[in-house]
Amino acid sequence: MRIQLPYAGIVLLVGPSNSGKSTWLKQLIEDETIRPSEVVSSDDYRKLVGDVEHIDWKGHPPDEADTLYEAYQDISTEAFALMTSLIEARARLNKLTIIDATHLYASDRKTYIELARRLHQPIYALVLDVEQHTLLERDQQRDFPRGGRRVKQQVQVFNREKRSMKREGFDQVHVIANVDEVDLTRQMNNR
Ligand code: ATP
Repeated sequence: MRIQLPYAGIVLLVGPSNSGKSTWLKQLIEDETIRPSEVVSSDDYRKLVGDVEHIDWKGHPPDEADTLYEAYQDISTEAFALMTSLIEARARLNKLTIIDATHLYASDRKTYIELARRLHQPIYALVLDVEQHTLLERDQQRDFPRGGRRVKQQVQVFNREKRSMKREGFDQVHVIANVDEVDLTRQMNNR
């Protein structure tokens, strides 16, 4: 599968936890297809604003788990606000920005589709469609597992939304089962 990224604009990665979004972007940075500064990651921004990438609320009594979950939501809200402001600045400067977050809900994607439209920039979705059993296996190997229940919930949302994504207003939507089969290039000038 051949995909050409636009010279400038917004590229959303879409996929549940463990679908390999960050791993793929790391590879693309290593082989110099993209620059580190072109990637904006929600995990990085959670660390920047809240000192943590992930808060593990599983295994805590319900009251404590609720408090931890709320703290995580607050950190996420601030992280996404900062990210959006950076993405908008980069779009105004005619830069390419690739956003590394799950983007499972139409409302999350709509924010960026509207931003791209307003700034007359292209917007693509690269959708990582990996089997649930693989996502769960990878989760168990991770340093900070997201937890089977959470991954399964994400897969449910993802499968429900997958078909309608093509009609949301993206300039291109690519559904990718295996990133090793993707030949990713980029447009080198603003044609
Ligand atoms: P999250 O949304 O939770 O940040 P993600 O989609 O960015 O997840 P990664 O952080 O890239 O996923 O990967 C999660 C785990 O899955 C890591 O332990 C990584 O090594 C493993 N992994 C990712 N891609 C692959 C792959 N293609 N083959 C095998 N393991 C992989």
